Amino acid sequence: MNLCFDYGHGGTDGGAVYKGRKESNDVLSLGKAVAVEMRRHNVTVDEIRTNDATVSLNARSGYENRKAYNYFISFHRNASEPEKAKGIETFTYLNANAKAKSLANKVQANLITLGFVNRGVKEANFHVLRETKAPSILVELGFIDNTDDNNRFDSKRNEIVKAISKAILSQCGVTYKNITSKPTISSTKVITPTTGTVTATTLNVRADAGTGFKVIGQLKKGDTVKIAKVIGPNWYSIYFGEHGGYVSSDFIKLK
Ligand SMILES: [Zn+2]
Repeated sequence: MNLCFDYGHGGTDGGAVYKGRKESNDVLSLGKAVAVEMRRHNVTVDEIRTNDATVSLNARSGYENRKAYNYFISFHRNASEPEKAKGIETFTYLNANAKAKSLANKVQANLITLGFVNRGVKEANFHVLRETKAPSILVELGFIDNTDDNNRFDSKRNEIVKAISKAILSQCGVTYKNITSKPTISSTKVITPTTGTVTATTLNVRADAGTGFKVIGQLKKGDTVKIAKVIGPNWYSIYFGEHGGYVSSDFIKLK
């Protein structure tokens, strides 16, 4: 699978602008995050721009025309009169082929589950849809001149990235994989310092975690110890003297 991503506007063309917010920045940032997701699933993505560069429409379609892509996806944000319109719409070219329509439907359907108004899948005679060879879509990621859409765009950013990624991957026949964090394997578990009481008549404080290490001091029954770390199953690192010490956890009752 080989995709071409087009982040609308850029450089001297900020696209739609509202209260200091620029369409060119919003779509660059979000589109790049989707590209990262594609690559995580071993799907190749070529991006027409990866920074705030000025790129003409002809340069965009020219870039796409050099190679055979499975899909071309253009990221934009909409604008109308301030605070008048909101929601998401996805475009294909006029009488687009089934692949483009299917991708547009999937992207639109996934995005509106996040609470955006559904403005539907539409057709338009846009340059980047008309002059590109691959099945092409252009998604308008909410209205930049609508506060609700901007709040949703920001607060649900990760869900938006995931919604678009899942739609594209599904269209490409690739199953979306959640990011799984590997469990940390460590014998030294850091805990929030907690306190305990010594239950043995006398308890040796040692230089390290084990009965073979040097005794550096003693505690008596009822003494309070401040525990810094749990070491393995049987030892605590405690605050003791200047450099701390180690005691068997068998003789400490946690408070
Ligand atoms: Zn635009």
